[in-house]
Amino acid sequence: MTAPPAGASPAPASASETYSDVPCIFCGLVCDDLEISRSGQKLTVARNGCGKARAGFERPLVKSEPRVAGQPVSLDNAIAAAAGLIRNAKLPAFGGLGTDVDGMRSVVSIADKARGVVDHALSESYMQNLRVLQSRGWFTTTLTEVRNRADLIIFTTDVLKYHHRFFERVVHASDTLFTGGPVRRTIVLIGEDFETGPIAGPGVGDIVSIKCKPEAIGDVIAALSTLNKGSPIGAEQVGGVPRAQIEDLLDRCNRAKYGVIVWIPSTFTFPNADLTIHRICDLVRDFNVKHRFAGLSLGGNEGSTSAAAVCAWQSGYPLRVSFQSGAPQFDPDLFAIPKLLQSGAADCLVWISSLTPDLAPPQTDVPTIVLGTFDMKLAREPDVFIPVATPGIDARGQIMRVDGNVVLPLRDLGRQSGLSSPVAVLSAIEAAL
Ligand code: SF4
Repeated sequence: MTAPPAGASPAPASASETYSDVPCIFCGLVCDDLEISRSGQKLTVARNGCGKARAGFERPLVKSEPRVAGQPVSLDNAIAAAAGLIRNAKLPAFGGLGTDVDGMRSVVSIADKARGVVDHALSESYMQNLRVLQSRGWFTTTLTEVRNRADLIIFTTDVLKYHHRFFERVVHASDTLFTGGPVRRTIVLIGEDFETGPIAGPGVGDIVSIKCKPEAIGDVIAALSTLNKGSPIGAEQVGGVPRAQIEDLLDRCNRAKYGVIVWIPSTFTFPNADLTIHRICDLVRDFNVKHRFAGLSLGGNEGSTSAAAVCAWQSGYPLRVSFQSGAPQFDPDLFAIPKLLQSGAADCLVWISSLTPDLAPPQTDVPTIVLGTFDMKLAREPDVFIPVATPGIDARGQIMRVDGNVVLPLRDLGRQSGLSSPVAVLSAIEAAL
């Protein structure tokens, strides 16, 4: 396959245009109701969106060229240099993986051919979920189900800090399927430092705050579980929370028609955090004996939900897969790219960050190839840098929402960046191996 046409410098875009129902790639929620107007090459979030979306879409497009050893080169030469580094490596590591479904398909394909390893930059928190899913299984739900049915939502993380429009899009939704109006939901906040201002609204009834340290959330959930099984608790407090408050929460859970417990694994940064997720999932399972209850794991930024799904359906395993033996092998500890770089097992890093400029590669001395956004933030110059188009802004594509149930089509917003898509660049490198 020949290399895609070069052209990383912005070309004049045609007339202004307004795009409606644009999906936003800047967090795992993938809100698909944005209105984006374009004037020449300048994008503006005209309706909906949040501060993070505005910061992402409205970044001015600046000229960016492929580089080898810091020197501008043609795209063909950059592709040849990248292929040479990968060809000479015993174990190339394909990391970052901030891309869409098609980009990730290309990553798996080239990693298979190059006998490398694939691992997303945010895998560590995903592994906390995976350990629970593998060992116990779980009942989880979707954003749509929460929006239409949930009358009790228990948050164990301040979701608004990570998904600014969660309440607007899901909790306060006015057009729910079964009620003809907003569902009046009870909101329970377990933890600390919640931003409560935007919580009140048409979809919210009672707001219950249960204050404790994040590392005590698992204990509170375990106490709830114990009481639910009919066993007594002797202590007056659990994790600093009065027993009466936990009993009140159990009563609310038992009265709920459809309860949901929400967590974001990346915010559980304390030791053995997967045990807290474990307890949440066990409690959800126990509640389901009598009534509907479900878990909802959020996060999924930087295309991590797409990366995990594509890796699973292409290789049969979730992320942290090695193709070194010629067949896919999965090991969530052994094939973590930070560990492989530290131990010297990986001798070449291919880093993909096509969605945001912030997904920086780890510090390493091994030859490094970066396929990044035009304004990628780099602590040091990689051996090869190739600017690529962002799916959903400068290229078409698809991305999976954090609940893993919906794949949304991404559009090219027509600013004619001249940048090649991650798929085109990865396919050209693979062809040159
Ligand atoms: S909440 Fe997330 S997906 Fe929605 S507009 Fe903000 S950054 Fe984009």
